[in-house]
Amino acid sequence: MAKLSSATQRPIPVNYTKGGQTSVRGVVVHIMAGTLAGTDSWFRNSRAQASSHFGTGKTGALYQWVDTADRAWAQASGNSTWLSVENEGQGGDTLTDAQMNCIAEVLAWAHKVYDVPLQVASSPSGKGLGYHAMGGSAWGGHTSCPGSKIVAQLPQIVARAQRLVAGQSIEEDPLAGMTKQDIYNAVWKTDAIPAPSTSSTIKTNPTWEAVSVLSDIANRVRSTEATVTAQSATIKTLAQALADRGDPVDVDALMKRITDAIESVTVRLDVDEK
Ligand SMILES: [Zn+2]
Repeated sequence: MAKLSSATQRPIPVNYTKGGQTSVRGVVVHIMAGTLAGTDSWFRNSRAQASSHFGTGKTGALYQWVDTADRAWAQASGNSTWLSVENEGQGGDTLTDAQMNCIAEVLAWAHKVYDVPLQVASSPSGKGLGYHAMGGSAWGGHTSCPGSKIVAQLPQIVARAQRLVAGQSIEEDPLAGMTKQDIYNAVWKTDAIPAPSTSSTIKTNPTWEAVSVLSDIANRVRSTEATVTAQSATIKTLAQALADRGDPVDVDALMKRITDAIESVTVRLDVDEK
């Protein structure tokens, strides 16, 4: 009895050899040329004379049809020494990310239970993660199963199984190999934020880097601070002028005093900004 606990158990009553798995060299990848549901139904029909140990659906379903102590009928003379995984899809498809994860789970489990090495196999005399076509005519001559695109995905599946066995996250860390500077550039130096509506170049430069938005805000804050400082000085001057109202009010002189006060502050601030 050997069952993968994370797989949905869908035992079939026919189309397999009870106790017929003599050894496990590895796991063979197939393409259904059909759906998971259709295959699930077909394997229960004694006319099929076909089955596999496992099956995946494009969205991540993982079925186990045949106990791995028993021989499934998927790759002719390779049946008694290899486990099999059928995958939903058509010839020429690539496996979905979810399907690759499912196969990686099967391979990692076969590694623990049967000591299958975590590597790609390319012939029936090898060991690891293989594919139907590698068996040639002895395996039924299915030269297009599962197709070259899926064969090209096998190294990625092996890498995922290695991460699973090591207790790591199954999928590659997307930040792996990135430096802090790379992450800084991706976040702060990528044109992604709508330009401020007041930008004079909004038509030719509609999106800004985050760092430009930040420095624009800083400039506006400094400008606002300068205005507030100038206005405070104005108010003080005005208050002083009003307090001095012993004499008749000379409006022109008062205005000049205010203007001079503002200019002196503004000039000083301009100098400060450089
Ligand atoms: Zn096949």
